[in-house]
Amino acid sequence: MVINAMERIMKDLLDEYKNHLQLNCTCNDCLDDILALTLNKTKPRYIAKVEKITYVKAEFIDKQELTSLLVKLAECAKIVSDKPQCQSDKKEVDSNHMSYL
Ligand SMILES: [Zn+2]
Repeated sequence: MVINAMERIMKDLLDEYKNHLQLNCTCNDCLDDILALTLNKTKPRYIAKVEKITYVKAEFIDKQELTSLLVKLAECAKIVSDKPQCQSDKKEVDSNHMSYL
C-alpha cells in the first residue's frame, strides 16, 4: 500500500500544535479542512511501508523544514479559522430557532 508520509506527519503536527494556533473552532470538520489545505500545499512524500514514516519524520527533526511545515500549518489554520465552514450550517439552524421566539 502506498501512503503519503506527510499526511501522518502533518496530522501529528496539527494534534500537537492545535492549541497554539488560536483557532476559532476546533471541531473535526475544521481540523480536517486545515489538514487538507496544508497537504495541498505540501510536497507529498510517498512510501510503500508504514514503518518508513519514522525515517521520513527523522529527516524533519532539527531542520528548517520542520519550521516551514509549521509555518504552512499556521497559514492554513488561519484561513480555515477565519471562515469556519462548519459554522455556516449551524447559523442556519440557530436563525430558524430564533423565528420561534
Ligand atoms: Zn468547526
